[in-house]
Amino acid sequence: MNDVSPPSLQTFTIGSIRVAKILDTLEPTNPRVLYVDKRKEDFEPYLEWLQPYFLDAGKRLLLSIHTFVVWTKHHTILIDTCVGTHKQGLAFPHWNGRQDSTYLRDLAAVGCAPEAVDYVFCTHMHLDHTGWNTRLQDDRWVPTFPNATYLFDKREWEYWRDDPTPSEQAVVRQNILPVIEAGKVTWIEGAWEIDDQVTLLPTPGHTPGHCSVRLHSEGQEAIITGDLMVHPVQVAEPQWSQLADTDKALAIRTRTQFVEQYCDTQTMILGTHFNTPTGVYIVSTRGGGRSGYGRQKAPSARAAPQAAVRLSPLVRESRQRVQRSWLRGIGMPGLAYRFSSDRVRSRLPGTALQFMRE
Ligand SMILES: [Zn+2]
Repeated sequence: MNDVSPPSLQTFTIGSIRVAKILDTLEPTNPRVLYVDKRKEDFEPYLEWLQPYFLDAGKRLLLSIHTFVVWTKHHTILIDTCVGTHKQGLAFPHWNGRQDSTYLRDLAAVGCAPEAVDYVFCTHMHLDHTGWNTRLQDDRWVPTFPNATYLFDKREWEYWRDDPTPSEQAVVRQNILPVIEAGKVTWIEGAWEIDDQVTLLPTPGHTPGHCSVRLHSEGQEAIITGDLMVHPVQVAEPQWSQLADTDKALAIRTRTQFVEQYCDTQTMILGTHFNTPTGVYIVSTRGGGRSGYGRQKAPSARAAPQAAVRLSPLVRESRQRVQRSWLRGIGMPGLAYRFSSDRVRSRLPGTALQFMRE
């Protein structure tokens, strides 16, 4: 059983920008699915700050799949569109034919009806980042967000367009092509300013056209990672390759540079697959300075807690919504969660871990 429940709704503020996280699904995953050469024991040095939020008691990765809704002073923007419903032929067969989803209802509940979205941007074109680009209407795939401009990276598109793998072509056919054919795409190449508060930053390696997203307002900054790292353990171990990294060496360089750039800064990291609390800060581990992260032995029992990730406060949480997302988790084949968010309590800021279990 898992100890930590994931609120489906979390909100963040970066200056005048508001961000909401809308959960599509949350899945405990054996680490070897992602990090093929790693075993559960490899996580031992980091359990102190990975559990219970990012690893369950069985040391399975808690991987959240969510959209960030970004409201700037000019626009409503969706970053990544998760898995979606009714898809077929996907590389993860348990996502084929998903019927029931509260995703659109949750979007509407935060004031974001499909018609209100100005821009959709997918950090890359994997199945879990493009699903809600489209929905099935009268047996046809149509753009879910009818008034939105979809920003597609040219290099990213060309790579997946030409990938002959049937499951990748299923994504192209269902999630990407219908948007192009509907004339909703603006093509971009690399760095791009959506407006004066949102910039797309090329972070290649996971995929060729992969971009992260920088939000900046009133002197505050946040970065939405995309899959440049999938799990927080890669803050400590940026050299761990993910199975799906198309260029592993480049991905490692990008990740390492990212961690060094944002370590011990005030920039909030919004992890695209980071379970609640999702918004974190990267901090150096004890005594090591920036170069010391991830090379640290597990602290002794008497030592002060040491974290490579500092957790930001949950800003808002609705019990009702939490329970709904929890039930959704139970619906996944082979998964069993237990709802227990009342165990999560906020502490004063300034400590390495800002949340604790009772
Ligand atoms: Zn992903």
